[in-house]
Order: sequence, then C-alpha cells, then structure tokens
Amino acid sequence: MQANIVLLPGDGIGPEVVAEAVRALEAVASLFGHSFVFTERLMGGCSIDTFGTSLTDETLADCQAADAVLLGAVGGPKWDDPAAKDRPERGLLALRKGLGVFANLRPVKVHPALIDSSPLKPEKLHGVDILVIRELTGGLYFGWPKGRDVKDGRERAVDTLEYYDYEIRRVLELAFRLAAGRKKKVTSVDKANVLESSRLWRQIAIQVGAQHPEITLEHVLVDTAAMRLITGPAWMDVVVTENMFGDILTDEASVLAGSMGMLPSASLGANGPGLYEPIHGSAPDIAGKGIANPIGTILSAAMLLRHSLSLETEAATLEQAVAQAIHDGCRTADLGGSLTTRQMTDEIIHHMRNAER
Ligand code: NAD
Repeated sequence: MQANIVLLPGDGIGPEVVAEAVRALEAVASLFGHSFVFTERLMGGCSIDTFGTSLTDETLADCQAADAVLLGAVGGPKWDDPAAKDRPERGLLALRKGLGVFANLRPVKVHPALIDSSPLKPEKLHGVDILVIRELTGGLYFGWPKGRDVKDGRERAVDTLEYYDYEIRRVLELAFRLAAGRKKKVTSVDKANVLESSRLWRQIAIQVGAQHPEITLEHVLVDTAAMRLITGPAWMDVVVTENMFGDILTDEASVLAGSMGMLPSASLGANGPGLYEPIHGSAPDIAGKGIANPIGTILSAAMLLRHSLSLETEAATLEQAVAQAIHDGCRTADLGGSLTTRQMTDEIIHHMRNAER
C-alpha cells in the first residue's frame, strides 16, 4: 500500500526520536512491500521561531490531508514565558481540534524484563496490559462558561464540565470496539455519585454495553480507579473516561511501565487522519545528546500502522521486535543501559528483519 504520513518532529528530543521511528517504518515498508511518503513540517516552538506561530494554517491543512500524522514533542525553556502570545502547547491543542481527534488511546504494558524499573512491587505488575482511553475534546477542559469574574464582591473562577450525549457515545463505542479485540472488559470511570455529567456518562455506557453482550462492563468511580491502578492494575483491560479524569489517570498509569520513554499514544477521530505521539515531552535535559529512548515513538508508529493504515501484521511485527530487543537486554540510559537512540533502533530493526513470519 501507499500512505502519506506527515511528520511533526517538534522540539528538543522530538526530531531525534521521530527520525528513528521513520527508520523503523521504512524497514516495515521494505519488509512488507509498502511505500510510505513522509512530509516533514514544523510545529511547536520551532514553528514559533520560523513563522511566529506554533501551528500554521498550511501545516494543519497538510496534516488534515494526510493518512496519518506522527509527532515527536513540543516545548522547552526557550518558549516558557507564560506571558507570551503563543506557546508550543497551543499548536498541539489546535492540531487536535483541527483533526477532530476525540479519543486519546494510551496502552500501558509492563514488559517482564523491565518489572524492576517500575516503582511498584513486581507481584503487582505481572500481566499488566491496560488501554486507557481518554475523551479528548469535551468535558471539563472545554465546557462553557469558563473564566473569572467578581460576584457579590468576591473574585470567582468558573469551569464547566459539559458533555453532549453523542460525545460520550462515540468514545464509549470506540472503547467497546477495541475491547472486543482484547480481554473483552471495559471499565468505565466516572463520578456518578456527585456529577450529573457522570450520570449521563454511566447511562450511555449501559446503553452501549447492551449492544456488546460479549463484553463485561464495570463502572468504577474515579477515586477508586486511581487506587486500583496502583493496587491491582493487572485486573484492568480497557479503561474509558472523561477528559480531565483521563489526563490524570493516564499519567498515573504511565508510571507502571518504568520509563516515560517507553509509552506510545494515538489520538483518533471519526474519520480522517490519526495523530500518533509518544507520551513524553521534549526532554530538554537530554536533547542533542543522542541518548533518548526511541521506543515510545516507535510504538506510536506501530499504532499508526494498526489504526490508520489497518496494517495489523506489520504493527504486531514491529511491537514484537521491540519486545524482543528489550528481552535481549537492549537498554537506553533511562532504562539503565548505554545504547544510543540510533543503536536501540538498529536492534529493533535487526529483530524485525530476523523475525520468523
Ligand atoms: P519530559 O517528558 O520532557 O521529561 C521528563 C523526564 O523524562 C526528563 O528527565 C527526561 O529526560 C525524561 N524523558 C522523557 N522522554 C524521554 C525519552 N524518550 N528517553 C529518555 N528519557 C526521557 O517532561 P518535562 O521535563 O516536564 O517537559 C519538558 C518540556 O516538554 C516542557 O516544555 C513541556 O511543556 C513539554 N511537554 C511536551 C509534551 C508534548 O509535546 N506532548 C508533553 C509533555 C511535556
């Protein structure tokens, strides 16, 4: 197949890890007879420096016209001035909105060979394989009204947690679809004992669940879910939740895997290109040293193959090559090893080429 992929390497270690994911994708293309066309564009701090804005209309249009978008990371101390009229993260929010990606998928798997890198006790981590799905374009971060005013002589701040039924339904339907190909369990996380929006969320979860009798649905309050992620993460499969709850729970879940550098993410909409990026930031402390862990971005590229290009075998082959490299002891500095970013990718490509298919 032929696919057009827009690359947004961004800032800091972004360009270093995206370059490696491209090498991994090129290896996939040559092994399986595909042709991937890569178009590189600026986004984030580098775009502010060049164009005076974190995301240009042209770059957004190129992303919208692509089959998929692969992003590195944006931001860094150079653009940290809170009073600045544009910031790198604004480009990221505008990109998500412009692509209409309403669901953020973060798989968290703990590789057996890395169990000791996690702060949790090893016995809690065996078999952890969770997919957290966060609603990305609604909820508390986007509800209206929001802002500051003065009421009864007091300064007041307002945020609104608002959801339309269709916004909840589409992310739950995606959760059930993805659970069907996994352990067939959906944990819907809400705060239905307090919030009206959560009561609507739960009502729709029950309706969507009724259409998928083969999948077990459980409802868990967000405070209990936060506890369970630490006390019994192996019992969870697909977890789906509101925007802010998901923001917090996905960061909590990422700690399980040992290093930020390991974890991928995908943001998907109804149709149109998906947006794929590692969960880590631009890591200014190690940028330019060639030691960043490329695995989060390479696994994001595997998600791109699966979700945007429907290349399941290719995605699984790349994921297995990553797992095999880790199993064989390949480690970048964040995992206590000494491989460079490029050497780690070389090992993964080597395992992919030598895998039996
Ligand atoms: P960070 O994720 O960049 O770094 C946190 C720590 O993890 C650092 O010690 C870093 O060296 C390490 N780390 C991160 N990725 C790594 C990798 N691939 N390999 C090895 N080590 C890795 O978070 P931060 O330091 O809080 O933020 C730095 C900048 O990134 C800020 O400007 C922030 O706004 C931005 N940021 C961007 C995104 C994004 O682009 N989606 C996400 C988070 C933070």
